[in-house]
Amino acid sequence: MSDPVHPLDLLALDGLLDDDERAIRESTRRLVDDAVRPYVAEWFERGEVPARELAKEFGSLGLLGMHLEGYGCAGLSAVSYGLACLELEAGDSGVRSLVSVQGSLAMYAIWRFGSEDQKLEWLPRMATGDAIGCFGLTEPDSGSDPGSMRLRARRDPGGDWVLDGTKMWITNGSVADVAVVWAATDAGVRGFVVPTSAPGFSAPEVGRKLSLRASVTSELVLEGVRLPGSAVLDVVGLRGPLACLNEARFGIVYGAVGAARDCLESTISYAVEREQFGRPVAGFQLTQRKLADMALELDKAYLLAMHLGRLKDAGSLRPEMVSVGKLNNVREALAIARECRTVLGANGISLEYPVIRHAANLESVLTYEGTSEVHTLVVGKALTGLDAFR
Ligand SMILES: Cc1cc2nc3c(=O)[nH]c(=O)nc-3n(C[C@H](O)[C@H](O)[C@H](O)COP(=O)(O)OP(=O)(O)OC[C@H]3O[C@@H](n4cnc5c(N)ncnc54)[C@H](O)[C@@H]3O)c2cc1C
Repeated sequence: MSDPVHPLDLLALDGLLDDDERAIRESTRRLVDDAVRPYVAEWFERGEVPARELAKEFGSLGLLGMHLEGYGCAGLSAVSYGLACLELEAGDSGVRSLVSVQGSLAMYAIWRFGSEDQKLEWLPRMATGDAIGCFGLTEPDSGSDPGSMRLRARRDPGGDWVLDGTKMWITNGSVADVAVVWAATDAGVRGFVVPTSAPGFSAPEVGRKLSLRASVTSELVLEGVRLPGSAVLDVVGLRGPLACLNEARFGIVYGAVGAARDCLESTISYAVEREQFGRPVAGFQLTQRKLADMALELDKAYLLAMHLGRLKDAGSLRPEMVSVGKLNNVREALAIARECRTVLGANGISLEYPVIRHAANLESVLTYEGTSEVHTLVVGKALTGLDAFR
């Protein structure tokens, strides 16, 4: 028997990274090994996660808003951010979601469209994890079509804004100190920076989830929430939230590779140990075909993520490219998780192994930040020039 090669070493892909990128990958991996991996099955089982403690751990490593410049953020490259997402999601998609929503949705919205006062008030505390943010776009009756949102902001004669309505499926909602809330106004969609201590704001947790259980998911209820005129972000229309979503989707392109890698790694270790008919199940040709096909897709997904990361750092990443990445990498990660589950047999449905947890989580990842159907239509539009959304 020869020494096995790690699936991501099949094509010597480590050579794609420089020393700094490898260092970020290693430090994030160590943190996930220490602070996430030993506990995550229990968090998932209980449907609870110590989000505040984790945010501080991630903040101390500079992972929150790490691709943003200034205001206490690390200002690192897109590739470094992607690699951190990959390692976090190898731990759990819910844990990566905490970091993505914090950095790419809430912090990015304030960093890109906020006033200097808003940035100074929130970004340094969010970078350290002392303040947690959430991002409210989806509503009970408005998901893929955010233009149909009902949460309304009206300006009263004194200049204050008053917000009424409900957001749904909001990651970090119940633990957030600040919510970036998108609302319909007479002038189009506007974003608001809402301290969650504002009178009239509440965030009940969404229960009975069977996916992303190590992540806080909430409703945001705004009943006459009064905000000063300065609470509004400097962007009008859906291009505001869509710009933020594009940032977070980029992280998912890498993150999904992490979940798939963790599934395949644990499945290979299992399959070389597990014996049936007098030999390791990894020695059967049918199993090897599964493992080889999964390694191919994993390596291709990683190459795609790296390609998009380099384009983003060069300033030439277009939204439809992110759609290609999210569509392919989440789809393939989910297929890998499901296939790995079969190799583990009955153990494949147990939380003793990470596979069923990743598979369940990836069902959410397939849907949030633009469903796979929505990203298919983005790619279809890029290919044909024809908009098939309506
Ligand atoms: C765990 C979790 C966390 C989330 N976190 C957040 C968050 O932090 N902030 C936030 O704002 N949202 C969040 N979301 C919401 C998520 O972004 C939405 O669920 C997603 O945008 C899809 O919306 P929907 O669920 O309303 O589905 P719908 O839009 O109702 O879609 C239902 C189905 O119809 C399909 N469909 C819709 N339109 C078309 C079309 N034109 N052509 C073809 N098919 C179509 C969809 O692809 C899907 O298959 C989260 C969701 C989950 C599950």
